[in-house]
Amino acid sequence: MSKILIVAEHLDGKLNPSTARCVTCAKDIQAAAIDVLVLAADPAAIAAEAAKLDGVTKVLTVARAENAHALAAVVAPQVAAAAKAGYTHVLAPSTTFGKDVLPRVAALLGVAQVSDISTVEGTHTFKRPIYAGNAIVTVEAPAGSVLVGTVRTASYAAAASGANAAPVEALALDVALPSHTRFVGLAQGKSDRPDLQSAARVVSGGRALGSSDAFKIIYALADKLGAAVGASRAAVDAGYVPSDLQVGQTGKIIAPELYVAIGISGAIQHLTGIKDAGTIVAINKDAEAPIFEIADYGLVGDLFKLVPELTSAVG
Ligand SMILES: Cc1cc2nc3c(=O)[nH]c(=O)nc-3n(C[C@H](O)[C@H](O)[C@H](O)COP(=O)(O)OP(=O)(O)OC[C@H]3O[C@@H](n4cnc5c(N)ncnc54)[C@H](O)[C@@H]3O)c2cc1C
Repeated sequence: MSKILIVAEHLDGKLNPSTARCVTCAKDIQAAAIDVLVLAADPAAIAAEAAKLDGVTKVLTVARAENAHALAAVVAPQVAAAAKAGYTHVLAPSTTFGKDVLPRVAALLGVAQVSDISTVEGTHTFKRPIYAGNAIVTVEAPAGSVLVGTVRTASYAAAASGANAAPVEALALDVALPSHTRFVGLAQGKSDRPDLQSAARVVSGGRALGSSDAFKIIYALADKLGAAVGASRAAVDAGYVPSDLQVGQTGKIIAPELYVAIGISGAIQHLTGIKDAGTIVAINKDAEAPIFEIADYGLVGDLFKLVPELTSAVG
């Protein structure tokens, strides 16, 4: 029977919602146990959040000063050591964190990684998107080795929180940590807006905005809707917004309940990022724009007229 270890992603003492999505994927594997591993300097609050997730059997914590910042070189050997306690699967979200850490874990365990799991077909058989989401491939890993996989979080809803109270255990790992990689500093944009990757609503702007100043109308609508702000690559490349707002194949893959695409044509590389969005609303002056092929609601017209009208119409 499968025994799954999920590597918790967290920042500033809070569990990232991508971990709860990983738990939902793990449930599909029908395992005897789904354990969550929290590596942190002070894991208590994060572990308490993980313990509440429906489907979690046990939360394992490793409290070490070296775990104050998630460095792949430091995290990976600890995950690989923890995995040796009879785990058949090691999973992490297919976020920047998981993509950074898990290949190292796979290498340390001497196995190939399965990336971007979007459907579980069997304990070692999975579906995953390839060619920017234009094709889905079914992959099968050898059943005799530990399965190391990243989970495409947009494909899974977060496991419910609150009804579970899994036990939390401190794990003693005898692992020598590397000294060649150390934390120097974190440079990150400060924003009071919801996080783009996990927001329930996202308002995105494209090349049509024409300037960073004009993007203010996107922020104004987003604020009214309590939404995160996203952008197309063309808007990012033109310098209208920072690159961490990019949605799409080479940006963020997101699955909000509501996605509003404004002045975005709907190139395949952009659509890859919103394939799992719930309701898609598009505003574009070109009625033939490809975005309207996937939009649930479309407004054909000039965004500079329509967006302010929409913003003032929203309560
Ligand atoms: C390898 C690769 C990876 C890529 N990755 C990504 C990615 O991750 N994300 C991404 O977004 N793109 C990505 N791209 C780029 C992608 O192919 C498109 O070039 C890009 O998405 C276009 O951005 P856009 O829709 O904002 O601009 P455009 O395609 O120029 O579209 C602008 C739209 O605005 C409309 N418009 C203009 N003026 C107005 C107005 N006043 N009112 C209303 N509508 C108006 C136009 O009708 C048009 O449809 C990638 C490309 C490659 C080759």
